[in-house]
Amino acid sequence: MDMKTKRVVDDLRIDGDRLWGSLMDLAQIGATKKGGVCRLALTELDGKGRDLVVGWARMAGLTVTVDKIGNVFMRRPGRNNALPPVVAGSHIDTQPTGGKFDGNFGVLAGLEVIRTLNDHGIETEAPIEVAFWTNEEGSRFVPVMMGSGVFRGAFTLEHAYAAKDTEGKSVFDELEKIGYIGSEIPGQHPMGAYFEAHIEQGPVLEANAKTIGVVQAVLGIRWYDCTVTGMEAHAGPTPMAVRKDALQVSTRMMQEVVALANRYQPHGRGTVGMVQVHPNSRNVIPGSVKFSIDLRNSTDALVDEMDAEIRKYAAALAAETGLDIQLELVSQYPAQPFHPNCIAAVQRAADKLGYSSMPAVSGAGHDAVYMAQLCEAGMIFIPCKDGISHNEIEDTKPEEITAGCNVLLHAMLERAGVK
Ligand SMILES: [Zn+2]
Repeated sequence: MDMKTKRVVDDLRIDGDRLWGSLMDLAQIGATKKGGVCRLALTELDGKGRDLVVGWARMAGLTVTVDKIGNVFMRRPGRNNALPPVVAGSHIDTQPTGGKFDGNFGVLAGLEVIRTLNDHGIETEAPIEVAFWTNEEGSRFVPVMMGSGVFRGAFTLEHAYAAKDTEGKSVFDELEKIGYIGSEIPGQHPMGAYFEAHIEQGPVLEANAKTIGVVQAVLGIRWYDCTVTGMEAHAGPTPMAVRKDALQVSTRMMQEVVALANRYQPHGRGTVGMVQVHPNSRNVIPGSVKFSIDLRNSTDALVDEMDAEIRKYAAALAAETGLDIQLELVSQYPAQPFHPNCIAAVQRAADKLGYSSMPAVSGAGHDAVYMAQLCEAGMIFIPCKDGISHNEIEDTKPEEITAGCNVLLHAMLERAGVK
């Protein structure tokens, strides 16, 4: 790149008003009285939202392809179209009481990147694409992250097609009805790098007064059932010293779950969310207690350490009290690190643009998790008011929207290359 081009590229900024306007226009489709959006996957409204975004893409000169699960790719060619594209993506379906920004921001930010390149006549080496994935939210149809999951090969197209909503309507029929069964086979779409800009959906950026979260990973999760078995006895005649009170011992385990997570900061999480006490009677010493444990951290190695610690604590507690403590792993999801190259590109873009930033982790799943298993991927977080999402009051400031999109622009330009 010569000095003049470099200066033009360095000075490039997106049009924040145009991006905000498009977000507000899209939010009209399925708008709720409380200022949110209800645009469930594959409903007529989702079809209208898709048509609006695809129409904007065509106006920006993009080529649109749709795959068999309804994922949409909108392409701006590069100088070398043999190179795999640099892709910005997210989703435009919402929760029933969803907001205007979750998902929609990532898709329209990608479109704004392309509009900006068009305005300035900038040609990239690699092509640039914007993608939106079918049924990310998983509210109407299970599983969540359906389109990106099929694309990744996490489950089959047939499995996704067969999923039904509560009224018995299938994904296949509903996709067909809105006209979004494409011809491309999911997964048969090359990607050189993938970036997803998204609201944080948590309070960390706001609490730290940072504009950009440079996302390092999506947290790994382990779910356990813990069962503590003692002996039921009458609450009156049984002296304290001879009791085998399963609930008392359980509360020590529960305290340890939280203490353990506190020892594994900044990203450790420990939660007991479900408790069943047997026989659950006012004047009976509890004979057995079953409760859930949810442990999370940013790497599998850290989750392994937390796993070892909780098991060791359970064994020591059982030995000390003489009660039986069983810890059963019921499911696990590995941590998904993002690619160092993409993390660095996001960090460099934020630094270059002069935005305050901090490393972040995602406690929620995103389409980017599946993409990270296929290509170099990264995420950009922007704050959302009080950390609230999946709610009609979800809110983000226009300047934060603009900042996140500028970071997306410069991270994508770095990856796509400009001569
Ligand atoms: Zn989302």
